[in-house]
Amino acid sequence: MKAEIICVGTELLLGDILNTNARFLSRQLAALGITVHRQWVVGDNEGRLAQLVHEALERSDLLVFSGGLGPTADDLTKETVARCFGDTLALEPSILQNIRGYFASTGRHMPPHNEKQAMVPQQGGWFENHNGTAPAVWFEKDGKRAVLLPGPPSELHPLWNEQVGPWLAAGQKQMLYSLVLRVTGLGESHVEEKVGHLLENQNPTAALYAKTGEVHIRITALAKTQTEGEAACRAYAEKFYAILGDHIYGEGDKGLEHALVKALQQKGLTVATAESCTGGLVSQRITQVPGASEVFGFGFCTYANQAKHKLLGVEDRLLETVGAVSSQVASQMAVGAARVSGADIAVSLTGIAGPGGGTDKKPVGLVYVAACRGNDVYVAKLLLGARDRQSIRTSAANRALDMARRLALGLSLPGTKHFAADQTADFEAEER
Ligand code: AMP
Ligand code: MG
Repeated sequence: MKAEIICVGTELLLGDILNTNARFLSRQLAALGITVHRQWVVGDNEGRLAQLVHEALERSDLLVFSGGLGPTADDLTKETVARCFGDTLALEPSILQNIRGYFASTGRHMPPHNEKQAMVPQQGGWFENHNGTAPAVWFEKDGKRAVLLPGPPSELHPLWNEQVGPWLAAGQKQMLYSLVLRVTGLGESHVEEKVGHLLENQNPTAALYAKTGEVHIRITALAKTQTEGEAACRAYAEKFYAILGDHIYGEGDKGLEHALVKALQQKGLTVATAESCTGGLVSQRITQVPGASEVFGFGFCTYANQAKHKLLGVEDRLLETVGAVSSQVASQMAVGAARVSGADIAVSLTGIAGPGGGTDKKPVGLVYVAACRGNDVYVAKLLLGARDRQSIRTSAANRALDMARRLALGLSLPGTKHFAADQTADFEAEER
């Protein structure tokens, strides 16, 4: 089946909002095995929209719209597409009642023009919107279909996931199922070196995507049913697990912070953070995960030297001699965070996120990450290069989360040096 996506809204053409709905819809249609041949953006203009609909109907079987289902006069997608499909709209009392109920629940009176959102196709059909006032509607003519979804992603996503997607899937003979494996601790070229031979397959297919601080492997199977697709992806994923082992820390859309919280919960452990160059990013990511309070109680944001000394007991002597961005200070930050918080594991970061502040000896992108558990301290020295500040911070945070995850699970910590907690952790000692 061939499809076109049509996003309606002058604000899209003006660049005021990013067209995230096109991306979402393209991905979802691909997953259903429906080929998207074109994506369009058109302003809130009846003539241009109607012309586009007529042209698209010549070429494609399915048109998916987003936007222009609001109550105001410039929202005209439904009325325009109805005319193109030769359908008419009529008032649906149950929707009107819902809209009235929605306004009543927010202590307001329904403005009269909201009534038009309760108009639905006479020949086509509609899907109830549980997160807003505009229902999704569909039209059909000569075996061609149009589906219209409201613009706000908070309404479009659940409407698609719960109703429209399954409705379209029911008519599909084949669908695509995808599984994403998330890899950390290896760069894209390293991953490719190890699993390159698995990326040549026809079905399932597998591809690598380099992300900030990690690599994703997307496995996609073409199958008759979801169950069959899932089984094919799972079997193929095992080949990657056999090679990459614990470098695969998780699957799907859940980042390292989820893997860490899960590992800590499994083992009944707690973690604390001491952050300099990431300024709380690691603790912020941990606390994004529901249930984080069971495993996380203390996050120290010690940006200034004085804070590192006062809160974590980092020795002034070290701050003055080797400086804040050093393995010695990273180590003392982690040990101090564990001591003060009483957490089982502590991770720390200190580095130069740039763009300024770099020197020959300590360039932008140099970050020391330390993780301690009991009397053991592991320090990693990252040379992330003169990238932008945000990606340096993200990569460093990923490494800290992964080191904590590895300590929690009792895994090895590749690329780190081991020290005792009471030792001065001089990473470069042997290099001198
Ligand atoms: P509309 O239904 O066109 O009035 O759009 C209502 C709101 O939905 C807009 O103000 C945006 O916030 C959002 N929106 C509309 N179209 C898109 C789109 N293509 N991608 C992301 N958000 C959108
Ligand atoms: Mg609009």
